[in-house]
Amino acid sequence: MALFSTPAIVLGGIRLGEADKLVTFFTLTRGKLKGVAKGARRMKSRFGATLEPFTHCKLVVFDKGTEKLARIEQCDILHSFQSLREDWGGIERSSRMVDLVAQMTPDGQANTETFDLLLQGLFFLEEKKDPPLSVMLFISRLIACSGYQPHWETCLKCRLPFKPGKPEALYFSPGAGGALCAKCGKMHVPLIPMSQGTRAFLSASQKMDYERAHRLRPSLQIQKECEAIFKHTLSHITGKSTRRFTKNPGPTLGSARL
Ligand SMILES: [Zn+2]
Repeated sequence: MALFSTPAIVLGGIRLGEADKLVTFFTLTRGKLKGVAKGARRMKSRFGATLEPFTHCKLVVFDKGTEKLARIEQCDILHSFQSLREDWGGIERSSRMVDLVAQMTPDGQANTETFDLLLQGLFFLEEKKDPPLSVMLFISRLIACSGYQPHWETCLKCRLPFKPGKPEALYFSPGAGGALCAKCGKMHVPLIPMSQGTRAFLSASQKMDYERAHRLRPSLQIQKECEAIFKHTLSHITGKSTRRFTKNPGPTLGSARL
């Protein structure tokens, strides 16, 4: 049992009893953490607006041990991200980011890279740089941060490098985590069709930092193909339904086998 303090981002919360709230945070030092905020739903709660979704805050938590829920002692706002809660687009995109982090991360495992990525992602959404692109870049990075960085440079099967600019139809395998050339892909249906442009975009965007990658301008086709790749990859990683992961479901081709 110990009292500790950590920077955190509010992923979401639900009512608990008459006046309390059960809040899920992604913390810098302890990863995903669920805690009870006593009296948080009372009018004059000491927590005020600190527990609103997306809030970047500094938490003081009393950890009661692995079997019991932690108790939130104090929460101070570092950045409220209030503007993201003021319009539907902001709510939808920020919710997608925090929901994915909630689903992709285990309880109690710190991941500094994922914490920084989520914070950066929310800042890019707030700046309104290019919100749909901010989300795409966020998802491809989150998959990598979670230990599932796909291979983009060579065919997973024959190992031959892809030649940039060659208008070759490629395939993506969520199960094997990477791209296959047209010849190898045909022998391993069903896979997700992918253009050379999408492979090049995903490969290039991951080599750039998050800010610089906002200069890229993926075509509508690339955006659709990325959504399909994300949908199947996230489904493979979490083993859950993909409906909530994607707004515009791409081609339905079933799961890949290699
Ligand atoms: Zn091949």
